[in-house]
Amino acid sequence: MGSKTVVNNYGSFDVTMAYGKGAVCYDTNGKKYIDFLAGIAVNSLGHGFKPLVDAVSAQAERQIHVCNYFTSDKGVEYAKKLLAATGFEGVYFGNSGAEANEAAFKLARKYGFLNGGEKRKVIYTLESSFHGRTLATLTATGQAKFHPECFAPYAQGFKTIKPNDWKAIETAFDDTTCALLIECVQGEGGVNLIDPKWAQAAAQAARKAGAIVMADEVQTGFGRTGTLLASEQLGFEPEVVSFAKGVAGGLPMGGILFRGKAGGVFAAGDHQSTFAGNPLACAAALVVLDELLKPGFLDSVREKGEYICSQIKSWNNKNVVEVRGKGLMIGADIAEGVSALELEKKLLENGLLTSTAGKNTLRLVPPLNISMEEIDEGLKILKETLESL
Ligand SMILES: *Cc1c(COP(=O)(O)O)cnc(C)c1O
Repeated sequence: MGSKTVVNNYGSFDVTMAYGKGAVCYDTNGKKYIDFLAGIAVNSLGHGFKPLVDAVSAQAERQIHVCNYFTSDKGVEYAKKLLAATGFEGVYFGNSGAEANEAAFKLARKYGFLNGGEKRKVIYTLESSFHGRTLATLTATGQAKFHPECFAPYAQGFKTIKPNDWKAIETAFDDTTCALLIECVQGEGGVNLIDPKWAQAAAQAARKAGAIVMADEVQTGFGRTGTLLASEQLGFEPEVVSFAKGVAGGLPMGGILFRGKAGGVFAAGDHQSTFAGNPLACAAALVVLDELLKPGFLDSVREKGEYICSQIKSWNNKNVVEVRGKGLMIGADIAEGVSALELEKKLLENGLLTSTAGKNTLRLVPPLNISMEEIDEGLKILKETLESL
């Protein structure tokens, strides 16, 4: 642990980061790292991105916080732009991914209550999904390892369905189901892709049973997979989308988008948070969205992702079993007998920031504006490290 005075909840590595520029970070010893991590898919525009720094500095001078008694000019400006870009009708701002999903759950439960009474309460999520660390989002997370006994009792009214299991969708949903929540690309679960046809069929079955359909895009939104939302590529047209991580380029922000049957469910007082819609975060989010909407930006995310995947595949390294991804959300399954975590530590030593996911997958989620030079520099470290195993 870099600093003994900070509670070590994360099993952090013994590195204390100091500053960064683009997709390069430096620790307090001046050691350089290529950033294929982006603070876990958060620093969408890398480090020290001038327009972001300028917008945040200017907003800090004008106003940092107003509270939810009022709207802020930055909040309104961002909300309008986001709704126009995504085609949703409404947005609620919060501060993190778990909070965004909590808002989605509350909306789903109220929707169920208004459309079927007390019995329509069950929220379905997918096996091997990840939805956050609060009690309800942990319960919703479809992985047993996130449900240790010490935190019990867990929340009620959550069930899971196996992704890409066609048989399961025939019987899962009924008049007790209020929502189906799909994590569009399972990040923590191992960068698992969901079959678009299955997602569409599952959504159709859930809607037929009277439920709404929601997407957890906390890691995939916005722009990470080469489209603003990954659900666009899956084609199941969710009524609710939760977002967080990369939305404000590193400032804490999250929220939900809603439309159709999910519109008009929340009434004043149903849900709020003190920091929600914080103008500093909104000023940052505006810069991120403007950047993503520039012609060619999202295409370049897809192209860079394909380049990284094809490069890794072309090495035919025995330690990599499979490479897959969408845009700049990439997973490389590591061969049995080699630990992805050990590989991650070696890469850190060798100057490349990565993370692990699922059973034994190396996860690469670099800044969306990473340069080709930075990509090649990072890939060189990855190749040499894989060869040294
Ligand atoms: C990270 C993540 C969350 C939780 O977000 P926090 O900001 O850590 O609360 C929820 N869902 C998905 C898909 C995530 O990747």
